[in-house]
Amino acid sequence: MNLMLFGAPGAGKGTQAKFLIEKYNIPQISTGDILRAAITDKTDMGMEAKKFMDEGKLVPDSTIIGIIKDRLAETDCKNGFILDGFPRTLAQAEALSELMKNMNINLDKVISLNVPDELIVGRITGRRVCSKCGASFHVEFNPSKEENVCDYCASELIIRKDDNAQTVKSRLDAYHTQTAPLIDFYTKMGVFIELDGTKDVSEVTKDMINALS
Ligand code: ADP
Ligand code: AMP
Repeated sequence: MNLMLFGAPGAGKGTQAKFLIEKYNIPQISTGDILRAAITDKTDMGMEAKKFMDEGKLVPDSTIIGIIKDRLAETDCKNGFILDGFPRTLAQAEALSELMKNMNINLDKVISLNVPDELIVGRITGRRVCSKCGASFHVEFNPSKEENVCDYCASELIIRKDDNAQTVKSRLDAYHTQTAPLIDFYTKMGVFIELDGTKDVSEVTKDMINALS
């Protein structure tokens, strides 16, 4: 199963990806997580990407496409994958199509989690992420069992540097101007499914599993 989770920053893609990993036993490929790992490791790519991420801007396509090309070639992707936060521009979507064509594989579904902008700010400012596995929680809407401790790997939960009211605005702008045009791209491909991402986490999971079965 080759899946893509689509939606604005904070729509719930990472949260729902965790359920798909367990159900289908396929890896989540989050370009945001890969970039944050590169920043932690202080690689040249990470240091270059950081400037864009801190301002809530998209990292250049060439960097992102290079990351995905390498990641999809890894052996754990041979039975499928869940793309999370990629593609975000038309150039990235076109590069992905070309890459998948060369690999002789198809995209099965693009699942869009629809959440209006008014709800996004509260989701992002209350988000807590695992410093180790990247799992996402919310202080109010989706709290971890133990405060500041990850349910999955027991590591510490932190606040992402870009999760503040100022960057949310530029991230939403980037979403509407550069990413939303992909709705048309994947609708034309016949793989685009829209879900109501404002429901409770468990309700969204149910809708997603139904849509895939
Ligand atoms: P994305 O990966 O799309 O950026 P996340 O999965 O990290 O978004 O979710 C953003 C924030 O919203 C997190 O704090 C998460 O716990 C919370 N969240 C996710 N899904 C829901 C939901 N259905 N209802 C309320 N809060 C949610
Ligand atoms: P995310 O973890 O998906 O919220 O992404 C965090 C930040 O990483 C974004 O605001 C961008 O700066 C950068 N980023 C992640 N994925 C991409 C992508 N596909 N294209 C461009 N920038 C990206």
